[in-house]
Amino acid sequence: MHDIFGEEVARWQHLERVFKNTLESFGYTEIRTPALEKIEVFSQTVGDDTDIVEKQMYEVKSAAEAERLVLRPEGTAAFMRAVLEHQLHRLPGAQRFYYCLPMFRYERPQKGRLRQFHQFGVELIGDASPEADAEIIFVFETILKTLGIRDYVLEINSVGCSDCRPVYRDALKDYFRPHLAELCEQCQGRFERAPMRILDCKNPKCAELVQNAPLITDHLNAPCREHHDGLRQRLTQLGVAFTDNPRIVRGLDYYSRTAFEFTSELLGAQSALGGGGRYDGLAQRFGHDPIPAVGWALGMERFLIALEAKSPLTPTVRKPIVFFAPLDAPAFEMLFELSMRLQRKGILTAMSYERDKKLKWLMKQADRTGAVYTLLLGEDERKSGKAVLKKMAAGTQEEIEISNLEEIIAGRARSEA
Ligand code: AMP
Repeated sequence: MHDIFGEEVARWQHLERVFKNTLESFGYTEIRTPALEKIEVFSQTVGDDTDIVEKQMYEVKSAAEAERLVLRPEGTAAFMRAVLEHQLHRLPGAQRFYYCLPMFRYERPQKGRLRQFHQFGVELIGDASPEADAEIIFVFETILKTLGIRDYVLEINSVGCSDCRPVYRDALKDYFRPHLAELCEQCQGRFERAPMRILDCKNPKCAELVQNAPLITDHLNAPCREHHDGLRQRLTQLGVAFTDNPRIVRGLDYYSRTAFEFTSELLGAQSALGGGGRYDGLAQRFGHDPIPAVGWALGMERFLIALEAKSPLTPTVRKPIVFFAPLDAPAFEMLFELSMRLQRKGILTAMSYERDKKLKWLMKQADRTGAVYTLLLGEDERKSGKAVLKKMAAGTQEEIEISNLEEIIAGRARSEA
């Protein structure tokens, strides 16, 4: 888990701005759900023998209640819980949402893999058409283009629906049955319950066997095939380059039809920038009628690595226009108030709150803040009605009217901006 501050936080804010501006220009609105959910939100939906449900959830206990709560490991199931709770699917037409939220998974930490990480996600509900799938993929690509990330690949697949999947599962089982003893222990368990999940296994022996396994794309029924062809046509129309990868099944149970992933070589071993797909059947896992839905989530930290690889961070620290150097107590009173007033107007100033400091000490502080000017004010200046304004870089100085300080400094801030 990371602390995020300093220059890094500027990059996070930049990313968040690009995400939000892009999504809002496509008509998406933000949704924020709590970090804690009942355990069933995920255990009933994501799939029993997925890593997330089996071993990655953080359970939170309260002293008073027996209810089992977990820290949200992924966004979509929590989103669907909120949709059903607030009947958002009843609103007329398709509904579009985005979120930017921390996710929690117990993982072995490594570069680009954290226990608290952040996902930016979009969800489009109430539209079953391939155009909806094409739209969200186009939005993802727009974000990549806006950020100037060019080294990426989009891979798409269809994982069929509840009609075509049983046929495919049988074909997979027929294929793996003679090799059962060669599969890893976990996959031997998956063989009966969820043979498709073997396709995701990272064990080298399993991965080798997977190479010649039957493809889901050869087992799609006519409506699923039509949907998938429709998506491919739309992506081509929109100029979105993609490759077909029949091996993309996505880890989670609730996907149907479209599944896709954006990967980037900029990331090294953890190459996934983000991915998503269609999840029309998720609402049924909550005991509700199906709701057509499609979405994706991208890893913020992965985007930061990709951006860093492309262009290393450059400091963007705001410099104050003026450092206030009061030479006595009345000047301190006056400059403190002036500094607050200017900053309320958005003009950054700096001042040390230590009292009775000598000029030399004050000038050193002024240097450290990187202020463009230093304003000196003491008894002599008050008598003459003029304060001293030093331009730090040039080492020059001038006298300015004390009665007009606020206006003069505001004017300098405008001309330096
Ligand atoms: P998933 O929900 O597993 O499909 O993840 C969606 C995206 O979130 C991935 O493509 C990654 O970019 C990112 N991601 C997933 N797990 C982690 C993690 N532990 N640490 C950082 N990013 C992650």
